[in-house]
Amino acid sequence: MRRVIIIGGGAAGMMAAIKAAENNSSVLLLEKTNHLGKKLSITGKGRCNITNAADIPEIIKNIPGNGKFLNSVLRAFDSSDVIIFFESIGVKTKIERGRRVFPLSDNAHEVVNALINKMTELGVEIRTNTRVTDILVKAGRVIGVEVGNKAGNKFENADAVILTTGGASYPATGSTGDGFKIAQKLGHTVTEILPALVPLETEENFVKDLQGLSLRNVKVTLLSDDKRIADEFGEMLFTHFGVSGPVILTLSRKAAFLLNEGKTVELSINLKPALTPEQLEARVLRDFEKFKRK
Ligand SMILES: Cc1cc2nc3c(=O)[nH]c(=O)nc-3n(C[C@H](O)[C@H](O)[C@H](O)COP(=O)(O)OP(=O)(O)OC[C@H]3O[C@@H](n4cnc5c(N)ncnc54)[C@H](O)[C@@H]3O)c2cc1C
Repeated sequence: MRRVIIIGGGAAGMMAAIKAAENNSSVLLLEKTNHLGKKLSITGKGRCNITNAADIPEIIKNIPGNGKFLNSVLRAFDSSDVIIFFESIGVKTKIERGRRVFPLSDNAHEVVNALINKMTELGVEIRTNTRVTDILVKAGRVIGVEVGNKAGNKFENADAVILTTGGASYPATGSTGDGFKIAQKLGHTVTEILPALVPLETEENFVKDLQGLSLRNVKVTLLSDDKRIADEFGEMLFTHFGVSGPVILTLSRKAAFLLNEGKTVELSINLKPALTPEQLEARVLRDFEKFKRK
């Protein structure tokens, strides 16, 4: 029987464990924190947006950067396979606005528990509070992992090791970027890690006075050195530190890249993008007339 060691018990690690065990491997899952799927439990505001029922070309179109890179992965296991898989382990799903797929229970914990139950049913050995520090290589072949802070604590005789330690966001959930260091040590190239899908802090103080104000149907333009970089249309809101909301989260990836290159970044908000300047002027004059006593 093939022996597979999986490093990290998040979404990817648990899925890999189930698939390896279903393919008759003996599986050992090692998780650094005291609980599996900590990040998964907070996804989708606690509801877990499992997948999107869009077709593959549309999903690829919506992935920033090199979306085509994921083509073969998505063809092997697309969103309908995801839905069928979760239904098969007892998670009933529903499709909401924008073809977003959620568990019927609106509870991310149900998703985590279903994955844990399936692993248990398949006999996956799970060890929490076990931090992998290195992947062991012998004669050019991966043979196991080293755990804990003391050298010498090892799990060997592995036919395969799967590295699923997540990214570097929300470190409190366990994903502190260990995997990047481990992969780098094995000779992989690791690009610089930058934030994405995050709110933005602003320098201007007036923004803080607007905290709590949310705007709908606005157009936000990201500018750098006075050049238009990207536009997004939709909702945004002001916070005590800056700006947030769907439009800002989408723009944040590009802002982070520019800031990292030492460039300046500005946001311009068009509050009435659907109106021409003439229509806007007429609207403002009409409002002044209508609300002249306010
Ligand atoms: C607030 C928030 C909301 C989100 N909402 C959604 C959503 O609704 N839908 C969606 O599809 N995605 C969502 N995401 C993204 C999604 O959570 C991640 O893409 C997903 O969790 C990645 O899975 P992963 O298994 O690669 O990594 P993780 O889930 O981060 O799991 C990595 C695991 O590896 C463990 N680990 C790390 N280092 C070691 C080590 N050295 N040894 C042993 N174990 C280690 C960690 O403790 C962790 O348990 C959201 C993310 C956040 C932060």
